[in-house]
Amino acid sequence: MTLAQAVAAATAGGLDRLDAQLLLLHALGRPPSDRAWLLAHDGDPLAAAHEALYRQWAERRGNGEPLAYITGYKEFFGLQFQVDKRVLVPRPDTETLVEWALERLRAHPGTGGLSVVDLGTGSGAIALSIKHSRPDVLVEAVDASVDALTIAAANAKALGLQVTLRFASWLTGATVRYDLIVANPPYIADTDPHLPGLSHEPTQALAAGPDGLDDIRAICSQAAAHLKPGGWLLLEHGWEQAQAVRALLQAAGLSNVGGRRDLAGIERCSGGQWLELG
Ligand code: GLN
Repeated sequence: MTLAQAVAAATAGGLDRLDAQLLLLHALGRPPSDRAWLLAHDGDPLAAAHEALYRQWAERRGNGEPLAYITGYKEFFGLQFQVDKRVLVPRPDTETLVEWALERLRAHPGTGGLSVVDLGTGSGAIALSIKHSRPDVLVEAVDASVDALTIAAANAKALGLQVTLRFASWLTGATVRYDLIVANPPYIADTDPHLPGLSHEPTQALAAGPDGLDDIRAICSQAAAHLKPGGWLLLEHGWEQAQAVRALLQAAGLSNVGGRRDLAGIERCSGGQWLELG
């Protein structure tokens, strides 16, 4: 079987051409940037050992497993993150939250000693992207899953970034106030028809009660006690949740409540500022 035939066989079986090419490159030990190489070598024979791996991976992808779990990594904010089924695959949408967080840090008066906490860090994608862009900021990454913290720790080490990892549910047990609290918590309703399509990823990282807002409610209710005066809480949420989340932020006593749209133009993030009163 040639490389071109291997791709054709997988696409005939229903796989996206791009996924087939990326899996084939991975089986050949080549980086995803080598798609042009693949096209230039489409007559090359595929060795039996590589073909066996490729077939196995194509079958997993065909069963709906995210590509990132098969290759073992996902690119986010220009960095490479190790991922597996113990953590959510970082989504490009979430880069909107990171960009907003960095913007808030830039706008913050004063220099040095700023502190950020990322709640429900998973692979560490948000926390480590912030730390990579702002090495001067103290970054804490919290998760209620030991498995997730293990992966976040491995990513921190691989990227050479210093963040403090803490096992906790949201802000429970936090003893300090932060300049910035960020989170991409679970926000899908338990009965959402999209949830079964995400069955390869940890439900704990996706589903959040009957309206998908249980965790966002918990975070909002804890935030004011853990923000420094002038500090911000920034949250990612579902495409139809912006109004509800902004109402929760206001009810929690936060001011300047607003949002950000993701690359698809969807109101994907909302946040507010804790202003010292009187
Ligand atoms: N954006 C993800 C999805 O819809 C969900 C992420 C989350 O629940 N935090 O697939």
